Amino acid sequence: MGIRENIQEINKNKEAVTLRAGRQSGEVLLVAVTKTRTAEEINEAIDAGITDIGENKVQEIMDKFDSVKPVRWHMIGHLQTNKVKYIIDKVAMIHSVDSFRLAEEINRRAEQHNLVMDILVQVNSAQEESKFGITSAETGELITAILENCPNIRIRGLMCIAPFEDNPEDVRIYFREVKELFDQYVQHSHAALDFRYLSMGMSHDYEAAIMEGSNMIRVGTAIFGERNYQIQG
Ligand SMILES: *Cc1c(COP(=O)(O)O)cnc(C)c1O
Repeated sequence: MGIRENIQEINKNKEAVTLRAGRQSGEVLLVAVTKTRTAEEINEAIDAGITDIGENKVQEIMDKFDSVKPVRWHMIGHLQTNKVKYIIDKVAMIHSVDSFRLAEEINRRAEQHNLVMDILVQVNSAQEESKFGITSAETGELITAILENCPNIRIRGLMCIAPFEDNPEDVRIYFREVKELFDQYVQHSHAALDFRYLSMGMSHDYEAAIMEGSNMIRVGTAIFGERNYQIQG
């Protein structure tokens, strides 16, 4: 199957699961994860209806930015403080904020560009050492610090990468924990803390994530096929 057919298939699945979960049609946004993909492949996905793409490396965003058709770019990978300046005027949202130091730098660069950056706080609810993100318990402290010190940041929600399990049903508890945290903030939303996005679910676990309340799924492999990092270099 080609990129277009894969996107149609995922959209169909996403819609079916959304309704099965008792949620509203169209509530879940598909972010196509385009890391290692060429601008041509990405443009094919955009022609097939993709409006949002996710990259996990600053360098790839910079390399491809001018060759990709107009689309919303999401930074979904670990972001080093010294690289914020390269993407601050390119991305619509940064999903991977997990330290106050990073938030401060995003705020500083956003102010220089006279913009307000939308961010998500990355929560590592399974507390895996190999993953970035903060624990659920640390989330409140980081959010308070950002609210008090970073006027050029708007906190839009939470992001979570679940551990890999052969059976995606096994990671639902991690998604559920992040959803519960998300709901607490939704109830207390205001201008700087406008909680709306819960970014959870990848190719192999997006259905489980939607069942647990995700409204933004980040899907790469199921759209573009397996990644080949060797060729990419
Ligand atoms: C690569 C990546 C994805 C997509 O993973 P697939 O398994 O290819 O769907 C989602 N989120 C993040 C943060 C990623 O780095």
